[in-house]
Amino acid sequence: RAYNFNAGPAALPLEVLQRAQAEFVDYKGTGMSIMEMSHRGAVYESVHHEAQSRLLKLFGSPSGYKVLFLQGGATTQFAMIPLNFLSEGKSAGYVRTGSWADKALKEAKLVGEAFVAASSESAGFRQVPDLSKLELPEQTAYVHLTSNETIEGTSFFEYPDTGSVPLIADMSSDILSRPFDLETFGMVYAGAQKNLGPSGVTVVIAREELLEQSPKHLPTIFRYDTHYKNDSLYNTPPSFSIYMVNEVLKWIEEQGGLTGIEQLNRKKAGLLYEAIDQSEGFYSGFAQPDSRSLMNVTFRLGSEDLEKKFVKESEAAGFVGLKGHRSVGGLRASIYNAVPFEAIAALVQFMEDFKSSNH
Ligand code: PLP
Repeated sequence: RAYNFNAGPAALPLEVLQRAQAEFVDYKGTGMSIMEMSHRGAVYESVHHEAQSRLLKLFGSPSGYKVLFLQGGATTQFAMIPLNFLSEGKSAGYVRTGSWADKALKEAKLVGEAFVAASSESAGFRQVPDLSKLELPEQTAYVHLTSNETIEGTSFFEYPDTGSVPLIADMSSDILSRPFDLETFGMVYAGAQKNLGPSGVTVVIAREELLEQSPKHLPTIFRYDTHYKNDSLYNTPPSFSIYMVNEVLKWIEEQGGLTGIEQLNRKKAGLLYEAIDQSEGFYSGFAQPDSRSLMNVTFRLGSEDLEKKFVKESEAAGFVGLKGHRSVGGLRASIYNAVPFEAIAALVQFMEDFKSSNH
């Protein structure tokens, strides 16, 4: 297997791929692949419901929350959130932390009134803003934040208490990487293709009261109440992707749930950040230490030429996906749940060797 540091679609656990392979052609003696089955049949429906309850169980099964499986990626949620929750006379608060937060804000402005509730622009988006003293006007519809900025490599480790104003988070790049209190949030969502499974399904977990009723004028497919009332089976769901999510959730349970996964992730990220910090300035981390993501490790070298050389030589040595996003440059190692510790140890060794021969 390649050392896969892609930002998304990203590495999946080997065990999950192997199990899916074993039942790919004949799912549990049915003579069919799960992807060939009717989404209205009992076999598929049990997978669908199992994935929903497994996911909530990882958060302690809080009451009043519902899991939706949608399509169109996290990007579609950028539009659906304001379409469903931002009514006339209200304004939505957006926390600006970098590239993805800005995309969400841009969509909200196309729909209605939105304001910047907090921003780390002045810090070059190298850290997340302090949200402990967030002040929200009375007519705030909701507050939106990006828990992990995939491109900049920053992350929140604490979330604000927004009282009766729903807090909504794009958790595309760090969902299920560590425990958090789901009840702090009105809604969290994530495209699956980093920590949850293959692309094609978007997971939404939200308080039922937010999903029960959408504005009457919205087209059916863009309404949360459509998907809520039809249990994400209003139209054909991305059934194979949902099946894979269920398999990934089983794997997370086997790793000791979210607490077990967090321990592994801290060990993995710790090893890589240590290599950066102890390189005597040869490598420099992009994110400020207190905002460093456990999922996307962004770093730079002394010059762009050296960075190009690093990318080229790392590819030749079997490392995939280390080139930073074009908007921030440099290097990025995405080390989602499924990236094994050994891949990071191998990368750290490569970084040391590269430093020795280019110092
Ligand atoms: N939000 C974040 C934080 C992301 O990292 C990404 C994708 O990489 C997206 C949103 C967009 O997700 P999608 O491609 O599923 O629309």
